[in-house]
Amino acid sequence: MFLPGDRCSWAASLNKMERLKPFIIPGFCLRCQGCCRFAEQETVWTPHLLEDEQIRLAPHTKKIELRANPAQGNFVCQFLNQKDNRCKIHGIHPFECQLYPFLINRQGKKVYLSVDLRCLYMKENTDLARYKDYCEYLNTFFNSPEVKKNLKANPQLVQSYVHVLDIFEIML
Ligand code: SF4
Repeated sequence: MFLPGDRCSWAASLNKMERLKPFIIPGFCLRCQGCCRFAEQETVWTPHLLEDEQIRLAPHTKKIELRANPAQGNFVCQFLNQKDNRCKIHGIHPFECQLYPFLINRQGKKVYLSVDLRCLYMKENTDLARYKDYCEYLNTFFNSPEVKKNLKANPQLVQSYVHVLDIFEIML
């Protein structure tokens, strides 16, 4: 955890974590019904929240709250507008939502940056030069001392996922 005197630098570095460049082209996700919906209420796939996001969005939990959606037999994020498929808090949506379909993935004692290949966009776009460039960008981002420090202070962001592709190790 951080000391009170670290508050400013901690907040500044959190802000840095919240400004990830997107990989998926604008508009693609609005046509997809995959994200922000979950088969189970308790699942590792629910976005986990950084400490400041918990204060802003979900004071009583470390994860996004899901609501039952009986019409489709699943659960949806409390911030999803099902009518237009938009995030009601887009622009201040959680860091994990910005990162997806990339994930911070613990495998035993190691932590990887991985990608969920069930994402329809990733299924068709992992052979692009742009994908390689983006992975390099994430590698630089996640292996910076500041971001590693933040991840250590927010272990809820490091979960174990199955059926994902590991891209590079994050040396925590
Ligand atoms: S916060 Fe927004 S982007 Fe994240 S799961 Fe909810 S609706 Fe989707």
